[in-house]
Amino acid sequence: MKFTRRKLLAGLTASAFAGVKLTHAQEPQPKPQPLDLKDYAPKSMLHVKETSVLKARFPVIDIHTHLSFTNNSGAVPKSVARVNPAEILPTMDRKNVRTMVNLTGGYGAALEESLRIWQQPNPNRFIVFTEPWFSKIVEANYSQFQAEQIERAKKLGAKGIKVLKTLGLYLRENVTTGKLIAIDDRRFDTMWEAAAANKMPIAIHTSDPEAFFLPIDRANERFEELNAHPSWSFHGQDFPSNRELHEARLRVIARHPKTHFMLLHVGNAEDLSWVSEWLDKYPNTSVEIGARIGELGRQPRAARKFFDKYQDRILFGTDAVPQGIETPQQIFGDKLYEIYFRFLETEDEYFDYAPADVPPQGRWRIYGLGLPDNILRKVYHQNAERILGLK
Ligand SMILES: [Zn+2]
Repeated sequence: MKFTRRKLLAGLTASAFAGVKLTHAQEPQPKPQPLDLKDYAPKSMLHVKETSVLKARFPVIDIHTHLSFTNNSGAVPKSVARVNPAEILPTMDRKNVRTMVNLTGGYGAALEESLRIWQQPNPNRFIVFTEPWFSKIVEANYSQFQAEQIERAKKLGAKGIKVLKTLGLYLRENVTTGKLIAIDDRRFDTMWEAAAANKMPIAIHTSDPEAFFLPIDRANERFEELNAHPSWSFHGQDFPSNRELHEARLRVIARHPKTHFMLLHVGNAEDLSWVSEWLDKYPNTSVEIGARIGELGRQPRAARKFFDKYQDRILFGTDAVPQGIETPQQIFGDKLYEIYFRFLETEDEYFDYAPADVPPQGRWRIYGLGLPDNILRKVYHQNAERILGLK
């Protein structure tokens, strides 16, 4: 039968009123299948360019790595490492990573051990930072003790100081109990000043992604990550807000203009315009990109402008942890570096920010920045050389 336009329209109207679909006429439709979010791993159907960047275009200083940690449960702090330099160096050579900075070099005896294992045998390949001896905060002369420890660390060979997010989120008046100690607590003033006096930059991690301060619910963009690691949430209890934590850090930065503050994780990667205000206001700051290409790469136009404007203030870092399994975005190895290089060097679109089936920090993908050579050189090594005093 030949359909006329009039008949077809009449048919459509009748179907619409009857609630009948025109597709696969009359066949019963299968019910939608239930599928748990955790089992959903969609593959992109985009046919877009995939560039494999096996080696960085210029030598790299990875300024944010964790090659060792400190175990302070005994009388003497001990350095704990899952790997040794010989297991790390071949990957570094393959990827053109000239130097790795082990931020968590520890304090006391652990620092000496970390320097002996990493930096002393390979001073061009490994650099070690020290950390504050936070558990001594309960002692009356802490401020003076901490300043002396910084001076001692410098003499031993440590090149900077790492301050974990412990400050602001975990450290309390009785170390693990009592009231939280604020980032701008006056007891640390001697430490910030000792850093400047000894020409040691502070690498500081403050707060965490904004979603970590919100309820773990269906509106949380990092639901799966927080649901898998509920202890990472800082929602509720007596935790300050993300903004309060950053404002406390800004007061420290303002109070110690001779101290250099390397703001890890882009300072606050979800809010580049706020971070830009900090960089404009405080010349004693720089930012590092570790574990935040997922944030930078999903706002590629803002990120590209940020790299243009602050090309002398941005440092390459990955937050790499050898053999770490909890956080795919941080597992040291070829794949991790290849993703960072692809992000910085190419204009590839919509690719994974971490070597994992499901994006571990949130279900989105990223876009490359395609930085020009002069900016790449600065971000890969020149800015770090200047701040670390290597050149
Ligand atoms: Zn880190």
